[in-house]
Amino acid sequence: MPPALDRLDRDVVRAWLTEGDGAALDALWRRADEVRRARVGDVVHLRGLVEITNFCARQCAYCGIAACAGPLPRYRMTHDEILVCARQGRDFGFGTIVLQGGEDPGLSGPFVAGVVRAIKAETGAAITLSLGERSEADLRAWREAGADRYLLRFETTDAALYKRIHPDLPGTVSDRIGQLLRMRDMGYEIGTGVMVGVPGQTWDTLANDIWTFRDYDMDMIGIGPYLADPRTPLAGTLGAELAAPPSEQVPNDELTTLKAVALTRLVCPDTNIPSTTALSILDPSAGRANGLCRGANVVMPNLTPPEYRVLYQIYPGKAAVHETADVLADKVIALVGGLGRTTGSGPGGRRGRD
Ligand code: SAM
Repeated sequence: MPPALDRLDRDVVRAWLTEGDGAALDALWRRADEVRRARVGDVVHLRGLVEITNFCARQCAYCGIAACAGPLPRYRMTHDEILVCARQGRDFGFGTIVLQGGEDPGLSGPFVAGVVRAIKAETGAAITLSLGERSEADLRAWREAGADRYLLRFETTDAALYKRIHPDLPGTVSDRIGQLLRMRDMGYEIGTGVMVGVPGQTWDTLANDIWTFRDYDMDMIGIGPYLADPRTPLAGTLGAELAAPPSEQVPNDELTTLKAVALTRLVCPDTNIPSTTALSILDPSAGRANGLCRGANVVMPNLTPPEYRVLYQIYPGKAAVHETADVLADKVIALVGGLGRTTGSGPGGRRGRD
């Protein structure tokens, strides 16, 4: 018998992560969906994603746009190009625009502040930034310019694993969480997350990651499978070296990712949780819907122009690199309607949800 779902603690989360019984898992999916409906409702918030730069100074061992991932044509979108995408998002009815990119020193603080100000003025949309670790001055300036939220996954709570997969990040995972908390003090809603199945991630680690979301009451939590990119060190000898013994190593599969999403919904009932693109890569026909039916309430349709999207391959086969933004938007809106849910039109933040 699996442990009761109404008395969750770290050990119970760990036990559920390894649960294999179909009837028990059906109960987990049902509970996650009920809690999602009761706490954040049937509205699915759409966040239009613009991948504004694939330059990255970092060496993250898993990432296909990291500096260590080999030669790659690099791009940085102009102010006007980003604005075109944001207007498109507004026209599709998206309440949030997400500006994401590599950790790019060429993306200056004033440039981003100018883009944020212009998007706010023209579209009124909420703005989420996800541009890696930046100086306190930049983060403050961006907040003052109108940015509402910041996404920075802590990636793993295992301090030793964190160091191995981020060999050049200046601090520890505690420092990264500290940066998130400072951003919250600046007035940002803060988002974090992890990949599921990174070599070296054990069941204990993943349970601890999920419990850490709860400890810090994260406003947004993104959970997707780790997808090995052959150009990166983690897909080669480093991954082989870090992998835990088979009974302890978390697999990077859809089922485990969905369990992590569902358990996260139960321990953080009113947070915003996306059904991630990486999940839809593992299961192109149903991954996104499965996430939405097992705890998720957000989707991030891609607005990046196809000629840039094809260069923002953080892992192989990143979905739909050749489809235009309007095709992607139509598909997501149809998917949400098909689940009997509605798409949100407002900002859909955790504070003042609408
Ligand atoms: N540079 C910013 C940062 O580091 O937060 C944002 C961009 S980064 C590419 C966004 C996220 O992509 C990372 O937090 C990581 O979890 C995810 N990611 C990178 N490589 C991945 C891979 N091979 N498989 C799955 N997710 C990956």
